Amino acid sequence: MTDIVVLGSTNMDLVAYVAKPPQRGETVTGREFRTIPGGKGANQAIAAAHAGGTVSMIGAVGNDAFGTRLRTTLEHSGVNTDHLRTVESPSGTAHIVVDDEGGNAIVVVPGANSAVDHLAPGDEVLIASVDALLLQLEVPLAAVVAGARAARAHGVRTILTPAPAQPLPPELLAVTDLLVPNEHEAATLTGRTDPREAATALLDSVPEVVITLGSSGSLYAARGAQPLTVPAPRVTAVDSTGAGDTFVGALAVALGEGRPVREGLAWASAAAALSVQRPGASASMPYRSEIETQYA
Ligand code: ATP
Repeated sequence: MTDIVVLGSTNMDLVAYVAKPPQRGETVTGREFRTIPGGKGANQAIAAAHAGGTVSMIGAVGNDAFGTRLRTTLEHSGVNTDHLRTVESPSGTAHIVVDDEGGNAIVVVPGANSAVDHLAPGDEVLIASVDALLLQLEVPLAAVVAGARAARAHGVRTILTPAPAQPLPPELLAVTDLLVPNEHEAATLTGRTDPREAATALLDSVPEVVITLGSSGSLYAARGAQPLTVPAPRVTAVDSTGAGDTFVGALAVALGEGRPVREGLAWASAAAALSVQRPGASASMPYRSEIETQYA
């Protein structure tokens, strides 16, 4: 069993499904609307729990109906929410447009996630007790840095998804073990659009990098080793929302179980390929038995 803590965001995803996304100033008629619990933090927590990890979530929800649903959704997925605070502000929301080609465009309003700007009492003890800490950038940077430092102090592996894309402060990179950007984030961080060049540049700051490449798979690079490319299974994508979070959650579980990197990447790719074939983010995250079947 891999023990994991996710420090990050919870958002209610408000998803509109359209044939073609609207351009600026344009109104289009959607086909369908759904509210789906999400946020990169919660998504990674659910992905890791479904993949077989023992997972706790550090974060905050609002004192509203969305907050209640976010908490119960995490709990129903087996995620421990003892360190998920309820605060007096609206829950975070993500306003998502999904088009018929499976692409998406997203506006995030942080709400309660803004309250996650420090470690609360007990958070460090929790972090110290696990195998890996998963981090993203949808809560204030101060908490992300504090969490990563706590993990590093206790020898816990830190895995950072640098999303939304933004420059990373050196003090965060200094306590990041594995950085997992997508192509766009890697280009933002390095100014290089070629993934291999971006990965090489990122190794100046962190010891290990995985760049996810959508349907082209993923690229792993570590200091002193040959880069490794892992293809994605060929599937028909209906909604890629949460593919990256599924990938990271599953990868953390696999690495925590001691699987070799190539195997862990293939296993995570199998999980993410399953997720893109279904609508939604957290709702599309596959269970361990499904991942094993796809991976075989
Ligand atoms: P998102 O923001 O939509 O959650 P992302 O941009 O963070 O995703 P991607 O690089 O698009 O991340 O996808 C993450 C992983 O998911 C890829 O490395 C790949 O393994 C898998 N994946 C994504 N799209 C597809 C696809 N069309 N077919 C198969 N696998 C896919």
